[in-house]
Amino acid sequence: MNLDPGIVCYQHCEGRLFGFSLPPTCHLCGADLSVEPLITPPFRVPYPFVRASQAPCTIVIKPSRGDFLHDYRSSNDLHIGVTDSEGCVFEYDSEGLHSDYTSSWKQSLSVPIITDSANHLDPVWQEYWNFSLHTLAQNPSWSTERYSETSFNCYSFVLEFLKTLGPPGVNVKTLTKTSLCAELLVPHTAAAARYISLYRRLLSHKVVSVTKSS
Ligand SMILES: [Zn+2]
Repeated sequence: MNLDPGIVCYQHCEGRLFGFSLPPTCHLCGADLSVEPLITPPFRVPYPFVRASQAPCTIVIKPSRGDFLHDYRSSNDLHIGVTDSEGCVFEYDSEGLHSDYTSSWKQSLSVPIITDSANHLDPVWQEYWNFSLHTLAQNPSWSTERYSETSFNCYSFVLEFLKTLGPPGVNVKTLTKTSLCAELLVPHTAAAARYISLYRRLLSHKVVSVTKSS
């Protein structure tokens, strides 16, 4: 099942328009769009979310409850995990460390930590990523008993993973939940928030216009 709602962007006159489809007339000037040329032909706005299974060797995030498009409110309420090279999500929660809920990560944001120019992970890094992840996941620290929603949680596992991995360009020695969010996650959540806001406005207004001043 494809979860992309298919938002299209196009422009006839003054500003860019967004909708789930191209309407018969221009929302701004009323022109008949079946005969009038468009300044910008309709194109699909890129859907920012992925199935975690399609995002191997990345950090993945999703709302703690519900999904991004309908339930996401703020970055304070995100659940985080790590995928291995098969796209299997390793996550730590009140049930302990597990990797059997990958199918529930169907609308998640993928944060690549190591990429090369082709956006593919080098095989040596991939092997090291898997080794680090699988070894850490077997550590008995990640138990149901030790789990604490505020102090020993999904972020603790991901931080420990990154410290073990030591990816280039990330200062793991000083990495905290706050710096992880600010440096690595917020660029992705901020872009997704714009898409979410547009989607929600389109649920109540069939057409959303964005002019240069707005
Ligand atoms: Zn127009």
